[in-house]
Amino acid sequence: MKSNKLQIYNTLKREKEIFEPINAPHVGMYVCGPTVYGDAHLGHARPAISFDLVFRYLQYLDYKVRYVRNITDVGHLVNDGDDGDDKIAKKARLEQLEPMEIVQYYTNRYHDNMKQLNTISPSIEPSASGHIIEQQAMIDQIMENGFAYEVDGSVYFDVEKYNKKHNYGKLSGRIIEDLYSNTRSLDGQKDKKNSFDFSLWKKAKPEHIMRWPSKWSDGFPGWHLECSVMSTKYLGQQFDIHGGGMDLLFPHHECEIAQSTAANGQESVKYWMHNNMITINGKKMGKSLGNFITLDELFLGDHKLLEQAYSPMVIRFFILLSHYRKPLDFSNEALQAAEKGMLRLFHGFARLDKIKVAQKSTVNVGEIKQKSFAALDDDFNTPILFAHLFDGVRMINSVYAGDESLSATDLQELKTFYSEIIFDILGLVEEDTQKNDDEVLGKVVDLMLTMRMEAKANKDFALSDKIRNELSAIGFEIKDKKDGFEWKLR
Ligand code: ZN
Repeated sequence: MKSNKLQIYNTLKREKEIFEPINAPHVGMYVCGPTVYGDAHLGHARPAISFDLVFRYLQYLDYKVRYVRNITDVGHLVNDGDDGDDKIAKKARLEQLEPMEIVQYYTNRYHDNMKQLNTISPSIEPSASGHIIEQQAMIDQIMENGFAYEVDGSVYFDVEKYNKKHNYGKLSGRIIEDLYSNTRSLDGQKDKKNSFDFSLWKKAKPEHIMRWPSKWSDGFPGWHLECSVMSTKYLGQQFDIHGGGMDLLFPHHECEIAQSTAANGQESVKYWMHNNMITINGKKMGKSLGNFITLDELFLGDHKLLEQAYSPMVIRFFILLSHYRKPLDFSNEALQAAEKGMLRLFHGFARLDKIKVAQKSTVNVGEIKQKSFAALDDDFNTPILFAHLFDGVRMINSVYAGDESLSATDLQELKTFYSEIIFDILGLVEEDTQKNDDEVLGKVVDLMLTMRMEAKANKDFALSDKIRNELSAIGFEIKDKKDGFEWKLR
């Protein structure tokens, strides 16, 4: 292991803890994925990028990470509760498509967007509808243990009974007394003992199209159940990290804890991690507010709030600029500043190739490295990390200007460090690939012409003419100079 200093903020304990995996070097990480009924937006980008950083850094530290991120394709109802239409079924009716066509279409689009953002695909991406049998089995287990009850074909989790033995609300800090008074009683909840009980299995109304047979009724699983089931199936009854957006903390994750504990008799998650939300010009993002921006709209600049298009890497850089637990406000100014910052970082990195080395360094490379990794180890503190990386860029610029100097060893160390941090850990890529292709091509032509000069020097005129003729046939104009050559593409 490269580091044993990584500290992670555990939402459950409300403090940072030294990260110690249950079965090092193996790490199990589960992150709640999207409900696939619409285009991915900024709100999807933040957890995907925040946990991509966690995934990348843990792998960098030589952990063997199994990263599970689910696709919710059934059971997520329009009001996020126990009543109403399924979000996917509703969209399917609107579009006159089969629900699974909606699921496939938006899953594909989500994957495309995640690729553009350069997030690494999870190790396993299970879907709720592919685990109906496992969900039914967990309901059986919870009922057998006495924490669920059936009413008219639906099965509900008995929160009050669970709370007598375990602590319901430990993650969100809510106490059951408050839930009595604060939980609204909605229509269709008359079956429940208490309005805060949540469904594990729901009997489908005649018009509900997404349904499966069960011993209780033709119906569908409750939204919270899939994550308890799929995390247990792929990561075991106890695993290391569970992540997701802060909006999922209650009730979704609270219910997950209750389900897993009720079924297995023990807590399943060691570290709960939550990313904060994105606001737009200080306001919550919402379709009704007209400030709902999809990732495609961002990449194309196609929204009334956007002054320009922002590339996927600018979005990625912008999200990484702030700490994952802090709120992040989107604005054109903030994104434009992010774009400038990113270019400055890439420019600094590129300058490393142009530096002339000295006998001795006058700058401290080790210190920048040490501080940067300390920032990452401090609960993935990317804003502090960037501050150190930009200090490094200033240092590179002064070496380039001749005000400071770098030894060959230090230069190599700095190159490796920046390359690992920028590309491997932060997952940034230089988007101007056209320019990169040109650069590579230029280097190849230079190489060929250098070989031609060597051939000439060895009086191998056949080879030297061959190189010249073939390059010129491709379209290169070559001019011999006294001390070398010049070329351009016609
Ligand atoms: Zn979930």
